[in-house]
Amino acid sequence: MRNLLISANWKMNNNHFESIEAVTKLSALLRAAPVPAGREASLHPPFTSLRSVQTMVESEAVPLALGAQTCHWEDRGAYTGEVSAEFLAKLGVRYVICGHSERRAGCGETDVIVRAKVDAVLRQRMTPILCVGETSSEREGGEAQARVRSQLEAALSERPGDVVGSMVIAYEPIWAIGTGVNATPADAQEMCHSIRSVVLELAGGAAAESLRVQYGGSATPTNAAELLAEEDVDGLLVGGASLDPEKFVSMVHA
Ligand code: PEP
Repeated sequence: MRNLLISANWKMNNNHFESIEAVTKLSALLRAAPVPAGREASLHPPFTSLRSVQTMVESEAVPLALGAQTCHWEDRGAYTGEVSAEFLAKLGVRYVICGHSERRAGCGETDVIVRAKVDAVLRQRMTPILCVGETSSEREGGEAQARVRSQLEAALSERPGDVVGSMVIAYEPIWAIGTGVNATPADAQEMCHSIRSVVLELAGGAAAESLRVQYGGSATPTNAAELLAEEDVDGLLVGGASLDPEKFVSMVHA
């Protein structure tokens, strides 16, 4: 049985004061209603909040894994403004989002760069959350499966099965992100199942069985339970709704 992973992607929201306020609320809510057995929750604040959040999570034993939203592919060097996976690992970060569609579209992250970031995260013994997903025109043109397959092949091919099996893939249809229009549970299930089939081809049956596949795209407390009820949906990557601690905690329990 795979542990479900519910992840809060705060994007460029919450400065470090606001982050402390939000984690204080999350801490109280999760004390009153602990993360259920078989589930895990991760919090991906902006870089400037990571140290404050780490200190709180550790000192108050808040049951949230620390996460980051991206990293550089090199460990150190002349990359002004960048943050390496090595630095994130030192802060106790466990999960790093790689290849979010907002970074692919807005920051020029190609499949080659995304693969290099996955390499960097794995080198530091953290877990990549690899984002894949199609645009609305690709879906309308019947190309959704091919698009997702090519992103998976680019990031996962020629990796050992046990490494792939330890990763998290987030299926995030681009047309569903921040739009209020989520994929139907059946559509999410279909693509998450197909992701597992591609992983089986690329890395073997054990990897396909143990790898976790999240759904992301306008997930809310209203639709979380029906999405999580699908057999191949092993968690949620939540943007907008995760900014409200009560909503996020209710999705952890959905
Ligand atoms: C995301 O950014 O990963 C995301 C799924 O955003 P939202 O939940 O706001 O659609």
